[in-house]
Amino acid sequence: MRSFAGMISRASGGLSLDEALLRWEEEKEGTDARRLREAMGTRLDAMERSIVEAEEYRRSGRFVGHDGILLGRYVSQSRSLSGPFPLRACQIALAVATYNAAMGRIVAAPTAGSCGILPGLLFAYREIFGAERDQLLGALIVSGGVGEVIARRATLAGAEGGCQAECGAAGAMGAGALVFLRGGTAEAVAHGAALLLKSVLGLICDPVAGLVEVPCIKRNGLISGLAVAAADMALAGIRSVIPPDEVVDAMAAVGRALPEAFRETARGGLAATPTGRSLRKTLAEEAPDLEED
Ligand code: SF4
Repeated sequence: MRSFAGMISRASGGLSLDEALLRWEEEKEGTDARRLREAMGTRLDAMERSIVEAEEYRRSGRFVGHDGILLGRYVSQSRSLSGPFPLRACQIALAVATYNAAMGRIVAAPTAGSCGILPGLLFAYREIFGAERDQLLGALIVSGGVGEVIARRATLAGAEGGCQAECGAAGAMGAGALVFLRGGTAEAVAHGAALLLKSVLGLICDPVAGLVEVPCIKRNGLISGLAVAAADMALAGIRSVIPPDEVVDAMAAVGRALPEAFRETARGGLAATPTGRSLRKTLAEEAPDLEED
């Protein structure tokens, strides 16, 4: 699917959006819709497994430890400002992204750096509101449709488009999935995704010491919360003044205009702060094969 406009028109024929997307894939790419649904089911199961393993093994990254556990403790003290759903989504996202940093097995949806956001939103939704596996699977398929539009019109690579293309795209996919889970229209799905993308336009990729930890892990957590708000806004009838496809085109143009320092080179942003440079130096001393400044 190349556009949100196309996605909306495909869903107007009485099919649910997930089914419309699968049928489109079948017609255009020749992939059997039933097999595609099964393949997406294995990804969904792998996401669930990644949460179980992340919360059970509690491995830490090189620089980042157990933020998900800290957040869980804080929530249990009933002192939180946010509601249970965004907080649980954030907690899962932090845990899974940390598990990725510790070389755990995750689902790169759409990338390894942004791997916590979708599992956080989908499985926190199931925990808090209840949902059948089929509903979550439909939401995952819809999130894939959103991701495909972004991939085809822009990019999903931090090295090309900055973090707006990784955590931003994952947040947009998650916002679309939540709108779908709540029974929103295809138009609302597109606008939920667009509202999220607009709020992270220009987000740079600046991994400290080149590791997918700082700021990546916390961005997974925070953008999960943003996706919940974007979905609620879209479900409330709020629409992006700039049409969703134009938002993605703007994201692509911004990504192309980003200096190289802000596209995964670990030479700008937080990576270039005194602390970021010091952490890079420490790591280089421990592993001399890492390129020095
Ligand atoms: S900062 Fe860069 S490496 Fe980290 S998640 Fe974002 S795009 Fe990926």
